[in-house]
Amino acid sequence: MSWAVGSLRASRSVGAARANFLCVARAPCSQQPAATSAEGAQPSSPVATMVSVRCELVKNVTSEEAVHHHKVSIIGTGSVGMACAISVLLKGLSDELALVDVDEGKLKGETMDLQHGSPFIRMPNVVAGKDYLVTANSAVVIITAGARQEKGETRLNLVQRNVTIFKSMISSIIQYSPRCKLIVVSNPVDILTYVAWKLSEFPKNRVIGSGCNLDTARFRFLIGQRLGIHSENCHGWILGEHGDSSVPVWSGVNIAGVPLKDLNPDIGTDKDPERWGNVHKDVIVSAYEIIKAKGYTSWAIGLSVADLTESILKNLRRVHPVSTMIKGLYGINEDVFLSVPCILGESGVTDLIKVKLTPEEEARLKKSAETLWEIQKELKL
Ligand code: NAD
Repeated sequence: MSWAVGSLRASRSVGAARANFLCVARAPCSQQPAATSAEGAQPSSPVATMVSVRCELVKNVTSEEAVHHHKVSIIGTGSVGMACAISVLLKGLSDELALVDVDEGKLKGETMDLQHGSPFIRMPNVVAGKDYLVTANSAVVIITAGARQEKGETRLNLVQRNVTIFKSMISSIIQYSPRCKLIVVSNPVDILTYVAWKLSEFPKNRVIGSGCNLDTARFRFLIGQRLGIHSENCHGWILGEHGDSSVPVWSGVNIAGVPLKDLNPDIGTDKDPERWGNVHKDVIVSAYEIIKAKGYTSWAIGLSVADLTESILKNLRRVHPVSTMIKGLYGINEDVFLSVPCILGESGVTDLIKVKLTPEEEARLKKSAETLWEIQKELKL
């Protein structure tokens, strides 16, 4: 099980030995001669040989305490989970990365494949297992696992199936990382963020849905394409429910502080001769287009989740359009999660930015909230 080597630090940190991993490289050096085979010949196992070479090479100074300041765990090693993993690793964000999936074969393959890239980036310990013990002491847990919608299945039925999965997943996560921040990515993300919040009983600041972070990234990219300006310098926000009913806030779209609405008062409306509203339509369609072309979306969501993780782990207090408990804002009176600009730091969501919406935008947000609540109130949690 060489792919699981390196997990000892994770299991040590919770003082348990239940993880089904070996740790060859860090086995203690014995003063006794290395074990011999039954025939009394030379040490037969590669483990014994490696321990002996290590003992010849390394003089131990002190025993190591496992202290994880920036441990990140990813639940679900599908396309999205692995894109999150590589993005977190390439940014050098975590001092230990843990992966969990129910599909042991996939988990093994993905973990080995990542570990073999170790010489090319300063890769921290990558640990993996079906047992949530490997996630112990995580600062951030990213949830990408969940059931896929089956042919003809209703949205409510899919959500209820995901609730069942989340029930066991969330209780295991909080058992080993009671102080973590949860980032929910699995769809329908706004509802599942609510589910994670209810099941975890975490304060609302520590349960974050990736929400419209990806929609907003697509929006900024497409605006940049139209203007010939890098997306980093194209400022604009998509808020509300992730996906089809998201709300683009055209009044706030600006380049270098110049609002595009000042240049084109009808921007984003049906009266707009330049049809900027198509940019938002393209944001919505692009998800379907990518799925049709390659079967799933992964890279942009992975990069965007790593960006959120960075704000949390480095306490950057940057503003991101993520899904948060929005009750009390915009006339919404139910416990629903929708995206608004949120300040993200080491405590999770510390503050929201009160964006001034037009009556029409506010009505769209309220309608999304009502739709979500209709589904949420039927859920058996
Ligand atoms: P996928 O099917 O490739 O991967 C899902 C993984 O979850 C699989 O490896 C599966 O074995 C695992 N899994 C299932 N049940 C599990 C459980 N109980 N415990 C642990 N692991 C479990 O799917 P994907 O393409 O990676 O997408 C993952 C999720 O992300 C989907 O819900 C998708 O809709 C969502 N997504 C969200 C956004 C967003 O912007 N929020 C963007 C893209 C995808």
